[in-house]
Amino acid sequence: MASVLRVNAAEVLRRPGTEKVFDLPVQLADLEIEGDSRFYDGDAVQVHLRLESLTDGIVVDGRLLVPWHGTCRRCLADTGGVLECEVHELYQRTLTDPDAFELEGDQLDLQPLVRELVLLDTPATPLCRPDCAGLCPTCGVNRNETPCKCVVLPSDPRWDGLAGLKDLLPPE
Ligand SMILES: [Zn+2]
Ligand SMILES: [Zn+2]
Repeated sequence: MASVLRVNAAEVLRRPGTEKVFDLPVQLADLEIEGDSRFYDGDAVQVHLRLESLTDGIVVDGRLLVPWHGTCRRCLADTGGVLECEVHELYQRTLTDPDAFELEGDQLDLQPLVRELVLLDTPATPLCRPDCAGLCPTCGVNRNETPCKCVVLPSDPRWDGLAGLKDLLPPE
């Protein structure tokens, strides 16, 4: 399948200052992302990228908006949202920048870059919110919704071992 995120690098490099904008939805299937529980098949990543050619390479700047979903690792609630990934990359034919990607051939295909960012940046064990209170280890209520009266005394030495163990137990 022809990548919709492909540009002729030779043409762009010939004229430094050339800009090319990618502002489009890209289907997960076109990114070769399928059967990953963090995404709904059929969803699309919004790609907002700008390529700019320099004398010695091509800069790729912009962001991706990635719809995702999952289960909160503390309270087990369904969660999800739209992840924003920032993109700042440099492609060079002759690598002079240690962080740059090598341009091979005349085609610059952003598909592998976008695919990698989507897969790496989307949380595998998300939180429904940064301060999720989780489930009470004693009575099991969702402490985001219901304050329970279970008494946990962190200073009691009998709890010391349990506090560490709690994180190791698989969620019920
Ligand atoms: Zn939660
Ligand atoms: Zn409780």
